[in-house]
Amino acid sequence: TATIIDGKTIAAELRGKVAFEVAQLKREHGVTPGLAVVLVGQNAASEVYVRSKSKAVVEAGMTPSDHKLPETVSEAELLALIDKLNKNKAVSGILVQLPLPPQIDPQKVIAAIDPAKDVDGFHPVNVGRLSLGLPALVPCTPSGCIMLAKMVWPSLAGLDALVIGRSNIVGKPVAQLLLAENATVTVAHSKTKDLPALARRADLLIAAIGKAELVRGDWVKPGAIVIDVGINRVAGDGGKSRIVGDVAFDEAVKVAGAITPVPGGVGPMTIACLMLNTLRAACAQNGVKAPRL
Ligand code: NAD
Repeated sequence: TATIIDGKTIAAELRGKVAFEVAQLKREHGVTPGLAVVLVGQNAASEVYVRSKSKAVVEAGMTPSDHKLPETVSEAELLALIDKLNKNKAVSGILVQLPLPPQIDPQKVIAAIDPAKDVDGFHPVNVGRLSLGLPALVPCTPSGCIMLAKMVWPSLAGLDALVIGRSNIVGKPVAQLLLAENATVTVAHSKTKDLPALARRADLLIAAIGKAELVRGDWVKPGAIVIDVGINRVAGDGGKSRIVGDVAFDEAVKVAGAITPVPGGVGPMTIACLMLNTLRAACAQNGVKAPRL
């Protein structure tokens, strides 16, 4: 059976390293990184994410600033807040939790963030820099996926990689990162023909679909690395709900060489990479060389 890639432990280690570097940055340069998190309206899932992000910021020794805006806030008001955060020297990173209510254009909001503070890596400048192979702030979930894969296979060069999903948040940036690692990359999506056959060729399979257990065990090439990004709530025993991934874990674990569990795989890495991006942004804004982590 497959090696279980313990994202929880790997993420905790990364957060520990970030905290160490934050302490060093404070001591040697008098700089404390700050992360501003903007939450609009009341979305249960978003509130959970925002809370765990702020907690991680405090644990890393950085300064959190949380901005809660009502569901009815106008686009202009949100843009005004972003302008204020862009100008605030104590704020190294700005994260606007998505989704936003319908009166607000998310692309306009993302484009208003100073690219140097865009710790989500969603600004067109950072997206462009990533695709050009230039240094950039890179989206957190995709970075986490690559780190987890490299834990079991330090060089991804030449591997046949299949990314299922082409969202701007996960699928596309993870494909760019895999190209930068010299993998041979295929991107599949809802219009792809014969997904199981494509999957069976993949040495590295990254599933970012949002469909509970779509990827079955017999789609997995024996020995492959499987990274499961999906977070799907399904009905469990006794009327309770539980979280499953996009991969049928119990089946795939028998075939794969290594696999991430859900929960406890990619999810914790996303937050750890956000901490790392905030540290890197603070370093860049203060002319300090960022640590290699
Ligand atoms: P999305 O809905 O924006 O994109 C889903 C993609 O899957 C689309 O490109 C679509 O073409 C593709 N797809 C849908 N049905 C398909 C099918 N039957 N066959 C092949 N492809 C299909 O979702 P997203 O934002 O990319 O997120 C994907 C999943 O990852 C979700 O479950 C989400 O909750 C999860 N997620 C987890 C984290 C984390 O931190 N672990 C972060 C972001 C997203």
